[in-house]
Amino acid sequence: MAQETFTFQTEVERLLEIVAHSLYSHKEIFLRELISNASDACDRLRYAALTEAHLTAGDTDFKIRIVVDRDARTLSVVDNGIGMNRDDLLETLGTIARSGTQAFLAKLSGDAKKDTSLIGQFGVGFYSAFMVADHVDVITRKAGEEHAWRWSSDGRGQFTIDGAERPSRGTTVTVHLKADEDEFLETMRLSGIVKKYSDHIGFPILLGEGEKAETLNAGSSLWMRPKKDITESQYKEFYRHVGHGFDDPWLTLHNTVEGVVSYTSLLFIPEQAPFDLFDAERKGRVRLYVRKVFITDDCEGLIPPYLRFLRGVVDSEDLPLNISRETFQHDPRLAKIRSGLCKRVFDELAKKAEEAPSEYETFWNAFGAVLKEGLYEDFENRERILPLCRFRSSAGSELTSLDGYIGRMKPGQDAIYTLAGDDVEALKRSPQLEGFRAKGVEVLLLTDPIDEFWIPSVRTYKDKPFKSAAAADAQLDTIEADTKAAEPTSEPPDGLEQMLGRLKDVLKDAVKDVRASKRLTESAVCLVAGEGDLDMHLERLLRRHRQLEGDGATPRVLEINPTHPLIRRLAAVAADSPEAIFADAAFLLLDQARIQEGERVSDAQAFSRRLAACLERSLTA
Ligand code: ADP
Ligand code: MG
Repeated sequence: MAQETFTFQTEVERLLEIVAHSLYSHKEIFLRELISNASDACDRLRYAALTEAHLTAGDTDFKIRIVVDRDARTLSVVDNGIGMNRDDLLETLGTIARSGTQAFLAKLSGDAKKDTSLIGQFGVGFYSAFMVADHVDVITRKAGEEHAWRWSSDGRGQFTIDGAERPSRGTTVTVHLKADEDEFLETMRLSGIVKKYSDHIGFPILLGEGEKAETLNAGSSLWMRPKKDITESQYKEFYRHVGHGFDDPWLTLHNTVEGVVSYTSLLFIPEQAPFDLFDAERKGRVRLYVRKVFITDDCEGLIPPYLRFLRGVVDSEDLPLNISRETFQHDPRLAKIRSGLCKRVFDELAKKAEEAPSEYETFWNAFGAVLKEGLYEDFENRERILPLCRFRSSAGSELTSLDGYIGRMKPGQDAIYTLAGDDVEALKRSPQLEGFRAKGVEVLLLTDPIDEFWIPSVRTYKDKPFKSAAAADAQLDTIEADTKAAEPTSEPPDGLEQMLGRLKDVLKDAVKDVRASKRLTESAVCLVAGEGDLDMHLERLLRRHRQLEGDGATPRVLEINPTHPLIRRLAAVAADSPEAIFADAAFLLLDQARIQEGERVSDAQAFSRRLAACLERSLTA
């Protein structure tokens, strides 16, 4: 068969560049990656053989072998797993199938330090071999097929595929070591690396060939070993294998449940958010095993989508081996396992939140936005999730729980006030907060898009309704003020009613109403949503995602601050100011409120003309 040459997908090329400049300080991890792949390949074949026994005929003894050739200066990782045919090779070694790859790579800056931590969320897997190799050969034969194939590359833009010989199924990855990487030919060094990173692998890993081969690992599935025999570093390396993570686990949960349905679970919560956390697919990454046989790493129904940050393994004695992956998800036993896992995770999170609040903050910052999806879609567990939620608030820089917030509510305050926007700092400066601040009323600042969805569906916490501080009906006047200073200092100006009427006449449909504000203490104006109207932040969000038709924004209520000097001045002249001058002022005030709200002025030309006219008048006085 003629040799064919292919070009790496652009993303792979980019990744290889990074790998070649060796962002990892521990190059040795390439071996862990190759062993991890070999183990996955054995897992996959064992599963396939459940229904097609002939695939493993003649060799049911899965193993991974490391072979060194000192003369050729090569290191090979050999497995008798599922193997690859030509199409598989083309699909997997030359491309990166993972969704979000492109977006991820775009984030890499070229700044080695930053990139290392970013790439940690991604993992380069097979391609890490090029950290130590100037050439990699893969000779592989798929279980049940006749032909073997050789994939070959120096990692610089191209790879070749041609026919090859291999006496039986499986894959041999041969790494041709770079000039200064001889340490990876040393038996001691290799066995050290395997013990360090791959001891948890459930298949025997042998070093050497034939009779003289030495088994380097314990060779039993890590999750089935007693907790007391497992070191923290073994847990960590196992996490990296099953989770494809390069960070450390933030939390490790290992336990066995005996009951109607018995199972063992070893679950991890990562430290860092993986790059594809917000993929539309919201796929879970927990592997399902049945009596130590790998079934799937994509089991819908095992873990709810809002816990998709969990990594690890669930192994059950009581699920049938021979049922298809598709029917699994409807199995009531699986539902039992799921609710047990959820409960366990919530309990552990609650414990962490209680005992180690600052560590909990790390978790919350990485995964809080995901967990909150559960408030919206898992009615059953809502009451468990709510106390786990943390919020930024107007009261300080600390995160607060809802219980903490309720504890600080003012006499006469009957709602949990929230304000939604894109970023906390901007929200803190928002004019809508002025009156709340003056009265010492705390407002939760919401910046995750999901907040717009769970709040309307949850509605209350401990009988306290959630209410937007940017809604017209925020009832500030029933709340007792912290200090006398918070009470309005001046009487409403004469001409207030007349000014309000005139503003309404001039602004017409551009606003829903014009009212004197109780919430403003510093700013002259602000916009609020009329009763029953779409929240302003939500409207912007929907528009950004093109979920709203048309371009006319919902008219808002313009609130004006009767104590502000500008408004008092406007009220004083409201009766006899010429039409054009009053209109300029009215529209400029509205535009000012829009800008503060983070919106565009409705007509930039008109805005500039009015501003210029106004400035001119003020300068010629
Ligand atoms: P990942 O393991 O995260 O999928 P890798 O880059 O490590 O990513 O491997 C890419 C793909 O190449 C694997 O998903 C698998 O399909 C294939 N592959 C790699 N090594 C082997 C192997 N030893 N046997 C079979 N397939 C393999
Ligand atoms: Mg891999």
